Amino acid sequence: MPTTGKVITCKAAVAWEDGKPLTIEEVQVAPPQEHEVRIKIVATGVCHTDLHFLYTSHRKGGFPCILGHEGAGIVESVGPGVTKFKPGDKVIPVFVSQCGECKNCRSPRSNLCDNSWWSKQQYDGKTEPLGRITCKRQRIIQFEGLGTFAEYSVVYDIAVAKIADDAPLDKVCLLGCGVSTGYGAALNSAKVQPGSTCAVFGLGAIGLAAVMGCQAAGASRIIAVDINKDKFSKAKEFGATDFVNPNDHDKPIQEVLSGLTDGGVDYSFECVGNVELMVSALEACNKSWGVSVIVGWNNTEMMSVSPAQMLGGRSWTGTVFGGWKSVESVPKLVADYMAKRIKLDEFITHTLPLEGVNDAFDLMTAGKSIRTILKM
Ligand code: NAD
Ligand code: ZN
Ligand code: ZN
Repeated sequence: MPTTGKVITCKAAVAWEDGKPLTIEEVQVAPPQEHEVRIKIVATGVCHTDLHFLYTSHRKGGFPCILGHEGAGIVESVGPGVTKFKPGDKVIPVFVSQCGECKNCRSPRSNLCDNSWWSKQQYDGKTEPLGRITCKRQRIIQFEGLGTFAEYSVVYDIAVAKIADDAPLDKVCLLGCGVSTGYGAALNSAKVQPGSTCAVFGLGAIGLAAVMGCQAAGASRIIAVDINKDKFSKAKEFGATDFVNPNDHDKPIQEVLSGLTDGGVDYSFECVGNVELMVSALEACNKSWGVSVIVGWNNTEMMSVSPAQMLGGRSWTGTVFGGWKSVESVPKLVADYMAKRIKLDEFITHTLPLEGVNDAFDLMTAGKSIRTILKM
């Protein structure tokens, strides 16, 4: 390969500071080092977590940064010690690693690999970021250890899933975050039982994938909740049976759902990232056995709930990447898509070039998209 061992100059969307649109820049991507893989990114989805980091979290010290963590691509070259990948392999880089050796990897009870990016790279500026990418002579932080809003990226080999050679990368990239997260929230984190009643709050890609997971688990009733009524027709396609717009009611949404379900749903999913809604989703569950899963991301606000809400036995849990052990599960999810057991195409409402990344954020904020795919 002509580029092996050389610095690659290519395009990337760079976030220079919080709250400001990304700019398309020429960046330099260094060759992969020990246990690293350089990937030619072919397509990437735009997730609300990218938007949250840039416009809501006000996280200092995390810039300049290349956002994007829902990509798919082709291995360009590998560093020393990499045995599982070779140039030409189709791959999905994953924001939760699977080293296979740490305490969590060895336990069937967790997918939170201790050697994931957050253990190696911090946003406080004190720890050396992975950063094989530079722009204008500055080292660029790769968001969640990935940075897929770029034509090339370098990631750790424990954060790469090898997928089928015939997988369409502009579709299966969604398994790098959104669809896997919502789908797994229902199947792995809540362990939805056949015949149960579920409520999904927020019908973006994550929420719709949770609806899809509830249906796959055999739920008999799936209540889709969103303040944007335009999302309901899509939710129906994914298996939702009831639709509730909180703005159509004077009562708190948990009381509305409790009334609809004779005392609360069996499982609820907060797929927005709104702390008040997380409490509503908990209180919408049956007070004895209800399980509420926090899927939405929020690292800036606190939740507040009366302990009495929990005494009867309802439980609150959360999910990162739908509980999937990433490296082994993502190829299986790709196979499920290829065999038409799970939907992906239906999540994609817009396709844009990398230069359209800020438009993708605008579409998401305006509630007009489910997922925008950026094609390099
Ligand atoms: P999105 O913006 O596409 O969708 C959010 C949906 O919530 C929209 O349809 C919006 O209308 C709806 N909504 C907003 N306020 C609401 C309210 N008060 N009540 C009901 N509905 C409301 O977002 P997305 O990409 O689907 O992501 C959803 C959340 O999941 C984000 O917080 C994201 O950061 C998080 N996330 C978490 C993980 C994880 O591993 N846990 C992974 C990916 C994304
Ligand atoms: Zn995401
Ligand atoms: Zn591990």
